Amino acid sequence: MIPYGHQDISDDDIEAVTRVLRSDWLTQGPAIEQFEQAVARHCGVKHAVAVSNATAALHIACLAAGLGEGDQLWTSPNTFVASANCGLYCGATVDFVDIDPRTYNLSVESLTAKLAATQNLPKVLVPVHFSGQSCDMQAIGALRARYGFTVIEDASHAIGGSYRGKPVGNCEFSDMAVLSFHPVKIITTGEGGMILTNRDDLHEKLLRLRSHGITRDPKLMPTPPEGPWVYAQIDLGFNYRITDLQAALGTNQMKRLKEFVNRRHELASRYDEKLANLPLTRPWQNPDCRSALHLYVIQVSERAQVFRDLRESGVGVNVHYIPVHTQPYYQHLGFRSGMFPESEKYYSKAISLPMYSGLSENDQNKVIAALEKACSRYSIEFQATDD
Ligand SMILES: *Cc1c(COP(=O)(O)O)cnc(C)c1O
Repeated sequence: MIPYGHQDISDDDIEAVTRVLRSDWLTQGPAIEQFEQAVARHCGVKHAVAVSNATAALHIACLAAGLGEGDQLWTSPNTFVASANCGLYCGATVDFVDIDPRTYNLSVESLTAKLAATQNLPKVLVPVHFSGQSCDMQAIGALRARYGFTVIEDASHAIGGSYRGKPVGNCEFSDMAVLSFHPVKIITTGEGGMILTNRDDLHEKLLRLRSHGITRDPKLMPTPPEGPWVYAQIDLGFNYRITDLQAALGTNQMKRLKEFVNRRHELASRYDEKLANLPLTRPWQNPDCRSALHLYVIQVSERAQVFRDLRESGVGVNVHYIPVHTQPYYQHLGFRSGMFPESEKYYSKAISLPMYSGLSENDQNKVIAALEKACSRYSIEFQATDD
């Protein structure tokens, strides 16, 4: 089966991890700060805090933003459940903003209308850079300035991408940005995540929340420490630390970030070219952005049959995403199908084609051939929308 995503691990990556295994530090060592610095430098942001996964990153980002009971977190329904669950972890209420039918990102028009209509403004907004293409951060930044909410970008798909010529993750229009290093994402640490921020106060808080809420800084202790052994727990934190093994892998993967994203663009261009005459809608590339191309999503009618056919021909397609508000857990919270119709319409036709830097042209040709066959079999009407 040709998978939809796959990690790209080199001998050099393996050596980098092995070096850590032979060193004194398996966790809480120097490899972590090296990884944080490598990512912060690439993204053009002041601070980076590496954690065990992006779900943990979203959780402590929300806590650092002060999200709690009685507060609202708004996000896109077209995302992985973690972008919304982080609000529930903090005891907040979660709500959604429907998507733009062209970018599949949270719609700024819908957000503007929802903000104007509500009595209950969000404390935190989590825009998700779906498939690796940035949301319209300048417009979101303007709304943030007007309404005063905290913006946490879910950039899990988007490291290596750019927005208006600057790297995603620079937090020019947001308070924090979160990255994921799960094996299907752009670079991997096995499991891993990171929070980026330009704000010193959030950085300090995030470092504490990553490790039990404990500080060793005497200035932050309520009373002067009795001796140099004293650590003080001043917040309720967690063990969300990443290991040095993972961080070393991440630092080494960063060396190939450009290469990875360029390769994804080559593959996307080939899909664009070879699928141009098929009855399907290809992903729209916003000229303001360079996507990191975590996903290449097509829209096709008779989705279920086409999906089944592709799987049967050995093509490991997937669907991103089942709208979060239609998940059983969110239905129990009172959400209903029909509430965010653009995300539901999008979902009903979505298929993610294989997209990863190690995908060979030969395998990509198999994907294209299988798709041609499936489309002709169901004689799908041409439904591509105008750009
Ligand atoms: C992968 C992903 C996450 C969660 O990442 P983990 O590192 O697996 O916790 C969150 N949000 C989005 C949009 C993702 O794609």
